[in-house]
Amino acid sequence: MNRKEIIELLEIENGSKDFYELIRESNNKTREEFNNQAYIFSQIGINASPCSGNCKFCALAENNYLLDNEFEFDTELVVEKARLSFEEGIDDLFIMTTASYPLKNLLNIANTVSEAMPKGKRLVANSGDMSYETALNLKDAGYTGSYHIKRLREGIDTEIPVSQRIDTIEAIQKSGLELYYCLEPIGPEHTLDELAEEILFARDLKVKAMAVMRRIAVPGTKLEKLGQISKLQLIKIAAVTRLASSPTRCMNAHETVEGSLLAGVNQLYAEAGSNPRDDVIETSNNRGLSIKDVRTMLKEYEFNITS
Ligand code: SF4
Repeated sequence: MNRKEIIELLEIENGSKDFYELIRESNNKTREEFNNQAYIFSQIGINASPCSGNCKFCALAENNYLLDNEFEFDTELVVEKARLSFEEGIDDLFIMTTASYPLKNLLNIANTVSEAMPKGKRLVANSGDMSYETALNLKDAGYTGSYHIKRLREGIDTEIPVSQRIDTIEAIQKSGLELYYCLEPIGPEHTLDELAEEILFARDLKVKAMAVMRRIAVPGTKLEKLGQISKLQLIKIAAVTRLASSPTRCMNAHETVEGSLLAGVNQLYAEAGSNPRDDVIETSNNRGLSIKDVRTMLKEYEFNITS
């Protein structure tokens, strides 16, 4: 699919006949190519403190930090939460940190968690930018993958240079860690051309796990005033992205929109701890879904789950 074809699909009117044809095609591809298999991912935000990334949509940004407190889970607590998550039944566990969280701690966590990790499960770092050497260290410590993206309007709505993000993405792929990718954070201000450009960038990365995420207008963040795209718009973008980027294991749309499970999405996230889209310390008490919630949803849409 080229840029023009992607834009044509993104231009389809939501709720039209073509819209339902688009999501039918994406749904069929996922059900057939992935053998109707679905995946439960769980993310733990292990710290919260004013972050120098200063993303204008984030509750943890240094220049408009929205949480009442700061915190950092100690390694024992992270390991215990990880153990409980695996026990409850998940496929991939994401350890998320703010941009300048110490690498040493991230390595300690992997050393301990990976020992207790059931066979076949994956441990993913969602952390700040890193060198090739650091990516290798993460891999040696027990991480199997890393979530890292070039955000929409990176360097404009964030204080992180695009080149730094791309260097990290290259380092991750070169190190042998699995790269998890996402088109985010999508807002009403992004043009279809911008979306198409990022979808093409993602396609060339040839990832197994792809996602799209809409920006949440978190009250108090700099971009709150721009609002959000609708759920239907997110579902359409998920379908187009799934068809154009062809991930080989799974597709996600975040935050969870049940209708996306009819549009090619076969992977959902449970979330705990800190969350850039939430202004409370423990997102599982607010925006974050539980592992049980996610499992129920996937089952209701008649996916197979092995975790
Ligand atoms: S999105 Fe991540 S990098 Fe950006 S300010 Fe929030 S925690 Fe920092």
